[in-house]
Amino acid sequence: MSIKLIASDLDGTLLSPDHLTVSERTVKALREAHEKGIKIAIATGRTLSMIYDVIDQLPFADYVIYSNGAAAYDLRKARVVYSHPLPQSIAADIVDYLDCREVYYEVYAGGKQYSQQSKQQYFTNLNLPQEFLEDYIRKLYFVDNLAEFAKENVCEKVNVYYFGNPRLNEIREHFEACPDVLFTSPVAGDIEITHTGVDKVQAIDAICAELGITRGEVMAFGDADNDLGMIKAAGYGFAMENGAELCKREAEYIARSNEVDGVARAVERYALGKKPRLLVSACLLGENCKYNGGNNKNPAVIALSRDFELIPVCPECFGGLPIPRVPNEIIGGRAISKNGEDFTAEYNSGAEKTLYIANEKNVRLALLKERSPSCGKGGIYDGSFTGKLVEGNGITADLLIKRGISVFGESEIDNLLDEADL
Ligand code: SF4
Repeated sequence: MSIKLIASDLDGTLLSPDHLTVSERTVKALREAHEKGIKIAIATGRTLSMIYDVIDQLPFADYVIYSNGAAAYDLRKARVVYSHPLPQSIAADIVDYLDCREVYYEVYAGGKQYSQQSKQQYFTNLNLPQEFLEDYIRKLYFVDNLAEFAKENVCEKVNVYYFGNPRLNEIREHFEACPDVLFTSPVAGDIEITHTGVDKVQAIDAICAELGITRGEVMAFGDADNDLGMIKAAGYGFAMENGAELCKREAEYIARSNEVDGVARAVERYALGKKPRLLVSACLLGENCKYNGGNNKNPAVIALSRDFELIPVCPECFGGLPIPRVPNEIIGGRAISKNGEDFTAEYNSGAEKTLYIANEKNVRLALLKERSPSCGKGGIYDGSFTGKLVEGNGITADLLIKRGISVFGESEIDNLLDEADL
């Protein structure tokens, strides 16, 4: 199914580890996806007013799902397309409880983040980077009485910051036991409270309905438990390599860490179809091109089609040898059959044709059948037709290596993936 919507969390996912920057590669990949007609949605626990800097870096973005999915905003039409706030009586109960326990909290309402005027200095003692703090405080809206504000306005979320608070466990247990609220703690020192049922996936459903697409056409990225719903629901649900263990266990796909542009790499591969090319021995993919008319089908090799554009090659067939054929082994650099005939010319021709294909298609990686007199790398049969191995390469593998192509055997898939740096 093709991808029509990309939804990505920000912190630990789309943003670089500085929590501020969208890398050049990520902007480029998302812009290209958008130019292909794919809609782009930011899906964050932050609120709208806290991410204008991110939107500036992604001016083509279409939607923002904010406050953990309590609302979704259409950036083109400048309107809220989905909203699931806290009922006012529940918001009132939450702030009354927190005020009694002298804990610092913020209220998210109407896409803005509100704090109590008298608590402006709260963050200054937390040993957080000064630049981050100044930016954060600059984006806050301050009111004289936050509890009253929460009771009089429609609130999407209440965020509790419990750094160093001795009543942490009591607060956690209280909210965990409340049936009317959803309690998450995606980062240390932070408790996020929304109405029961709020989830980024509900907001994604609303956007899908507006676009007339299905969950199967959504590509979603996240790193924390509050992303799990959308990761599991999306047709292409990615947990970040640097993400929570639960996310990684439940996700169908894993994206590389945000430190190495994991979102961009996955978008390039799955949404833009930019997979690196890999030359593969055709018999490993199940083609009956072996000397005896059979194959060496290998599911782990076939599964590489998820990460690579596979280009099957059978050098012996390219060299004009029939199927079936008498087996050959390498003796003194020549391909000699079990009957003693010399097929070196056919083997060389097959190797040249394989190299030609590699060059034509700009392939720099190959995964070839081990021990074959054509494809084997590192070890081949010794020419006695007794199954004894010696060091050496098959004729095609040898030519490819000499021409700068990285060749791996089927037992070296991990090395191949390292080299490919997907
Ligand atoms: Fe497989 Fe290579 Fe032999 Fe062809 S030449 S059957 S691809 S090992």
